[in-house]
Amino acid sequence: EAKAVANLISRPEAKALYRPRQRFTHKGTYGHALIIGGSYGKIGSVCLTATAALRAGAGLVTIFAPKCGYEILQTSLPEAMVITDPHKEILTQIDFDIEPDVIGFGVGVGTKEGTTEAMRHLLQKTKKPMVIDADGINILSKNEDFFELLPEGTILTPHPKELERLIGPWENDFEKLEKVRDLSKKYKLIILIKGTYTFIVTPNDLYINTTGNPGMATAGSGDVLTGVITALIGQGYEPLRAAVLGVYLHGKAGDLCAEKFSYEGVVAGDIARHTGAAIFDLF
Ligand code: AMP
Ligand code: MG
Repeated sequence: EAKAVANLISRPEAKALYRPRQRFTHKGTYGHALIIGGSYGKIGSVCLTATAALRAGAGLVTIFAPKCGYEILQTSLPEAMVITDPHKEILTQIDFDIEPDVIGFGVGVGTKEGTTEAMRHLLQKTKKPMVIDADGINILSKNEDFFELLPEGTILTPHPKELERLIGPWENDFEKLEKVRDLSKKYKLIILIKGTYTFIVTPNDLYINTTGNPGMATAGSGDVLTGVITALIGQGYEPLRAAVLGVYLHGKAGDLCAEKFSYEGVVAGDIARHTGAAIFDLF
């Protein structure tokens, strides 16, 4: 068995992954990202994810949200298209007649029974590359049979609490990493361990990010990361490359925000809107 090595992700590594845009292209070249999420009182989450996807270069973004999100999203994010669930407050029936290139699932969805069933149907019917975050991970944690339905290379992006629901408690960081790696191997997943230094765990490799700061410990910060990674997959980056570059850019965007606004002054929407500046910094 190959010995696992840890790879640091800093500017040169990100620069090497980044692929500049070509002149003779159009929005179809850059992928159609479908962002599925939200519930009553948490429509902001999916708005942040979709904003970040657009700011990370997605050609098209469609949001699938409960009906109560329709006016909110169309008003606050005119660049995104919106499809709604028949239910007013939660996701219950995820039917769409578009052909997305990638799906970002889970921010703000809650863990109600109806939403759990909707997620099951989604996983049964689509084999598109997927990023699963937040309550999407919480639902997964409560339904072990869902793991078999995940396409190979699916990216999970838990924060510490979501990770504990996913793998159970750990005694120390070595045990945590081992448990994450085991899960990654079992289902061929890419699993992030989000934190001060976000880890990206694959069946055989480990990447450690170097960007980011305590200003990013703020509501919606992770929702932005989901949008960035989803958009990169839509643009043709392989899931692992998208995860590595996405985590780096998200942290760098947060660093640029902190320089302007102080740690305290950083909010998630700012991080999303600085994704472009983070890309500029690679040039
Ligand atoms: P979430 O808890 O889902 O909103 O995700 C928080 C995001 O902010 C993750 O991408 C974390 O890596 C990042 N983050 C939170 N706190 C810090 C910190 N102290 N230093 C660097 N990044 C952080
Ligand atoms: Mg989160």
